[in-house]
Amino acid sequence: IKLSRFIGPDISSTKIRKRIFHARPVTGLIPESVEKHIYENGFYMPDSIVDMQEKLKAMLKNKRYLHTMGTVRAAAGLAETYGADPEKARLAALLHDSAKMDHDRLLKIAEDAGLAFDRFEAESPGLLHAKVSALIAEREFGIRDAEVLNAIRYHTTGRPGMTLLDKITFLADMIEPTRNFPDARLLRDLAKKNLNEALMVCMEHGIEKIKEKRELLHPMSETALHYLKNEMKKGG
Ligand code: FE
Ligand code: FE
Repeated sequence: IKLSRFIGPDISSTKIRKRIFHARPVTGLIPESVEKHIYENGFYMPDSIVDMQEKLKAMLKNKRYLHTMGTVRAAAGLAETYGADPEKARLAALLHDSAKMDHDRLLKIAEDAGLAFDRFEAESPGLLHAKVSALIAEREFGIRDAEVLNAIRYHTTGRPGMTLLDKITFLADMIEPTRNFPDARLLRDLAKKNLNEALMVCMEHGIEKIKEKRELLHPMSETALHYLKNEMKKGG
């Protein structure tokens, strides 16, 4: 695409390209539709990221792939706002759902790899996929960074003592632009102002929804929320 056609006179297309390359957000600098197009097609991304994107596109259903790239976009914004490593945030977001597949296949991968999983994960694909995504990120995408792998591993339940990267990945997954639950907009605004507050709202909402639908709630979800609330009380 001809980027110059879409951007105003005050901002150069070189700057946009550089920002995308270095995992910096471009939200607000170019029209939303152009931004979406750039991310979904991997324009201006480093080759290593484009390779991963292509692999993911082949592995995931289209809707999941679009969600993934939306999460990458949201994570870039949060990383910049809260001073997280942008490249780590991009990797964690990119691979966070790499194991979204049917439960039998998921269980088989986990078993073959000798992955320890608990009874909650054994019963619920929604819970198991996070752990298996971390496994796939490591084995199939060559990610060695423990921070990135943990952010992927805990993106569904959270955990006590979540790192900044954990929080960003968790939240980006919830507020990314293809999500359109009621209050998504409010939550996106809150996420720009207060990371912990937004995360807390997400976690509470998530737990509520699971209870409503009578799905399996992992005890870690509640532990993580308690821990976060204490952290906030102490002024975190
Ligand atoms: Fe997920
Ligand atoms: Fe996700």
